[in-house]
Amino acid sequence: MTETLKPDLCAIGGGSGGLSVAAAAAAFGVPVVLIERGKMGGDCLNTGCVPSKALLASAKRAAVMRSGAPFGVTASKIDVDFGKVHDHVQRVIAAIAPTDSAERFAGLGVRVIKGTAKFKDRRTVAVGDIEIRARRFVIATGSTPALPPIPGIDEGPYLTNETVFDLTEQPDRLIIIGAGPIGLEMAQAFRRLGSDVTVLEAAAPLAKDDPECAAIVLDQLEREGVVIRSGVKVIHVKHASSRVSVTYEGASDEETVEGRYLLVATGRKPTTDGLDLAAAGIKYDRAGIAVNKRLKTANRRVYAIGDCAAGQLQFTHAANYHAGLVIRNALFRLPVKVNDDVIPWVTFTEPELAQTGLTEAQARTRGIKMRILRWSYHDNDRAQTERETHGHIKVITTAKGKILGVSIVGAQAGELIAMWTLAIAQGLNIRSLTGIVLPYPTLSEIGKRAAIDYFAPSLTSPWLRRIIAWLRIFG
Ligand SMILES: Cc1cc2nc3c(=O)[nH]c(=O)nc-3n(C[C@H](O)[C@H](O)[C@H](O)COP(=O)(O)OP(=O)(O)OC[C@H]3O[C@@H](n4cnc5c(N)ncnc54)[C@H](O)[C@@H]3O)c2cc1C
Repeated sequence: MTETLKPDLCAIGGGSGGLSVAAAAAAFGVPVVLIERGKMGGDCLNTGCVPSKALLASAKRAAVMRSGAPFGVTASKIDVDFGKVHDHVQRVIAAIAPTDSAERFAGLGVRVIKGTAKFKDRRTVAVGDIEIRARRFVIATGSTPALPPIPGIDEGPYLTNETVFDLTEQPDRLIIIGAGPIGLEMAQAFRRLGSDVTVLEAAAPLAKDDPECAAIVLDQLEREGVVIRSGVKVIHVKHASSRVSVTYEGASDEETVEGRYLLVATGRKPTTDGLDLAAAGIKYDRAGIAVNKRLKTANRRVYAIGDCAAGQLQFTHAANYHAGLVIRNALFRLPVKVNDDVIPWVTFTEPELAQTGLTEAQARTRGIKMRILRWSYHDNDRAQTERETHGHIKVITTAKGKILGVSIVGAQAGELIAMWTLAIAQGLNIRSLTGIVLPYPTLSEIGKRAAIDYFAPSLTSPWLRRIIAWLRIFG
């Protein structure tokens, strides 16, 4: 017999976006249903952010142990037990899983349904024998790895983010297609754990980031032994027993690289299969579900958020941010809109690469008359004590000093970017950063030093020169 539910809100997908919607709605006492067909926690917990950062943490331990000599500390021998690395990654997932579990959400008052959601009409979703006629629906079905159309690629086994964290044996040679954040994080992790790694990229690596900052990450990876071939066209993949070979067109000749495993990290495909969006009058294409600035689809009862929504940044915190906007729109009728300029992102290689607000290139495209302020990690005392002097901060302001964007490459860039995200969201002027008292010695001082540089060109008056000199010495 069919059961019919009539909640105020129904979230489809129990990943970062769907869970945030359900938790917030439940906190406001709103009847809410959450539908998940796979594992609660979605990509981020099970096959994305969490396992990738846990693997990088193992790799970092290995790198730290190898690089102790300048500090006067050396380890006689470093062993990597890949089976135990795998166990560490899985234990981290298991430690976080209860927070995202169906049991926890049921305890919050959410009705959790396991199964695949499918629209029946413009206001009904069915999961098996259950029909949900909600006042509002939020689609948060995420994305899956996109497979490039390379001849032979699917004629044998290949890894993606959905399978790479299941490996229990160390690949002697790993080939990665795709030099975006995921490809390069995995490249550094596996290299540091002892694999030979070759990365093939058709365009420029880390193409969405500031090229000057990205170059510092690429330089470090190459120094660690990762082979990066960019601007190459992969011609075909051949699978043999326990081996794979990839042939690509380099600058002049055809070259072939051989490995034990192939990891495909060439972007993401929005998940829309099985939803029957057409039955609900929802428009979508290969880029995802079409939404307006309020994340509403062509059906006014239905929102789409996170990785499945077309044209949106694909990060966990972006999906959380979308969830907050939808709650305000759907429950409180507040006309809030998505603003990508306040969504930071981080590539968790070492050095880390963090971006918030506009990149220099974006500011140029918008025709903004800008100032670019910089400070190097080399000139920071804490960076010197840690021997982490590789990197810099780059701050983009208007001519009058309004902070528009910040790129940081260097140790803990992902932590340092938080302050600047707040500054941009609050529309702060660079002046407010010059007066701030920061603990010494910390990496955060690089930001204050860059801010002080804003005043450097106006040093015609001796009085101003004295102030800047004072700030540089005591600031
Ligand atoms: C290797 C890797 C590393 C990453 N690292 C980071 C990082 O460090 N920081 C960061 O911010 N982001 C990172 N990301 C991106 C982040 O994981 C995603 O942006 C985020 O998970 C998107 O959340 P979502 O809610 O849109 O989708 P998901 O978390 O993927 O959740 C979607 C859920 O919907 C379910 N579903 C799909 N269709 C249906 C249906 N018809 N019915 C019911 N359920 C359905 C799926 O089973 C899934 O559980 C990483 C991604 C990868 C792949």
